[in-house]
Amino acid sequence: MADSTLATLSLDNIYERLAPVTAPRYSKTARFTNWGMSFTCTPAVVFEPEDEAQCVLILELARRQGKRVRVAGIGHSPSDLACTDEYMLRTTKLNKVLEVNTEKCYVIAQAGIVLNDLHVALADHNLAMSNLGSISDQTLGGVIATATHGTGTKYPVLSTSVLSLTILLADGSRQVCSRTANADLFMASLCGLGVTGLVLNVQLEVEKAFRLREVQTPVLFDQVLKDFDKMAQAAEHVRLWWFPATDTVVWSKANRTEEPKKPVGSWLWDSLLGYHAIQFLLYVGRFVPRLNITTGKFAAWLVNKEVTRVDDSYKIFNVDCRYPQHTTEWAIPQSEAVACLRELRAFITKELKDPHGVRPHFPVEIRFSASDDIWLSPSYGKATCWIGIVQYKPYGTNVPYRRLFRAFEDAFSAHHGRPHWAKAHRLGPSELTTLYPHFGDFLRVMQDVDPKGVLRNPYARRHLLGEQGEEVGRRVFKERKDIRDVD
Ligand SMILES: Cc1cc2nc3c(=O)[nH]c(=O)nc-3n(C[C@H](O)[C@H](O)[C@H](O)COP(=O)(O)OP(=O)(O)OC[C@H]3O[C@@H](n4cnc5c(N)ncnc54)[C@H](O)[C@@H]3O)c2cc1C
Repeated sequence: MADSTLATLSLDNIYERLAPVTAPRYSKTARFTNWGMSFTCTPAVVFEPEDEAQCVLILELARRQGKRVRVAGIGHSPSDLACTDEYMLRTTKLNKVLEVNTEKCYVIAQAGIVLNDLHVALADHNLAMSNLGSISDQTLGGVIATATHGTGTKYPVLSTSVLSLTILLADGSRQVCSRTANADLFMASLCGLGVTGLVLNVQLEVEKAFRLREVQTPVLFDQVLKDFDKMAQAAEHVRLWWFPATDTVVWSKANRTEEPKKPVGSWLWDSLLGYHAIQFLLYVGRFVPRLNITTGKFAAWLVNKEVTRVDDSYKIFNVDCRYPQHTTEWAIPQSEAVACLRELRAFITKELKDPHGVRPHFPVEIRFSASDDIWLSPSYGKATCWIGIVQYKPYGTNVPYRRLFRAFEDAFSAHHGRPHWAKAHRLGPSELTTLYPHFGDFLRVMQDVDPKGVLRNPYARRHLLGEQGEEVGRRVFKERKDIRDVD
């Protein structure tokens, strides 16, 4: 829409045009809760635009009303990264595939497409994404905005597959950027946290569809410490699931293969017994904490056998993350991983012996990413080992997690760790500047493309700009005490 046309629209005209894509005030969509059920907010208005012109109108309305706009995908970030009390723009209806090029192996899709839908569209053309995280329920835009990662020492974060982006800036203007055009905007937006603009379209490099052969082997944690680098490099995609209660690890190795499919449904979370029994035990563990050790042993026992399966790539990459959860994950230099894991194990061993110690859930997930050059990517400039922990919320209830997470975070920090941007953390600009050589460049681009901060929500203002106070969610830093969540 031309600027001149926009300027002639009255507020009533704008409301009228946006009415069909405005969530009714008391509808389910009007309240936002993230997947993990750990953060919630009530935006003043939730819009679900279906085309670019409506996105431009939403930004115009925000400008005239003095409101900020938060772009949100499907709400899977385990933090308040997508939250706002002002305007929320959900991208879920901006979800079309625009072009598939089988010869040059790329796809152009709208950023609101959910990865599961993208896989289906790519498979129709015998194509697939090269690497994936644990799930494919996220939007492509959400994955890129947070530099979501999969695993593999030779595979960098997913944003590195982006060839170009079409972005709507806060002032409603449209920019196309890539490594050669508007390069600064591009390097900032490959992990842009929603503050560099609304990503409309993504051109993504993909590869010919492939199957993966995965072998899962139970091993002792001591073996992991001894052979860490060798084990990390044993296959294209390696991940380790550590069960602290038994000090054992499931070592997953996946390689591309031509073998026929051989799906196996016996992994812990596929099992009815595993799923329901464990959720119940975790629930009881809220009242009888020592039971959590038995539950951890039971979970480890369920996976204590070698399993081999062959399937389409995305079915092997993805796992079922099932229960709502608190989670945190950090990227540490791979060279420091063994030392860090030793410290974490010493901490857990001490706690498990203490009748009042913390009771970590399972598994602790250990994954790998190759180094990259994306300004705010946690694997910027370093071969990376990701370590993530979860504390499940059985049936959506609360569990203690703060003391455990704090101890892990301290260990990660001591080993030059960088937190996953999508997950709750405590770092502000003073720490981030030292961790990210391009942090200043990122802030410069953010300020250039959005001088009034229209796209900045409390998370962005708190972590990127160091703002403090109730308005930017100080409660995230506050030690909260409630009956079941004392630590
Ligand atoms: C069960 C589970 C498993 C996960 N597994 C992994 C994993 O294996 N590896 C990993 O790295 N992460 C993982 N994550 C984190 C997840 O990939 C990120 O939180 C991702 O951002 C979620 O995408 P979303 O569509 O839900 O985005 P939201 O959570 O809705 O938004 C996240 C951010 O993206 C921005 N954003 C979204 N769309 C756009 C757009 N079009 N333009 C500009 N900004 C936009 C938002 O402003 C916000 O800053 C997991 C999360 C869950 C809940």
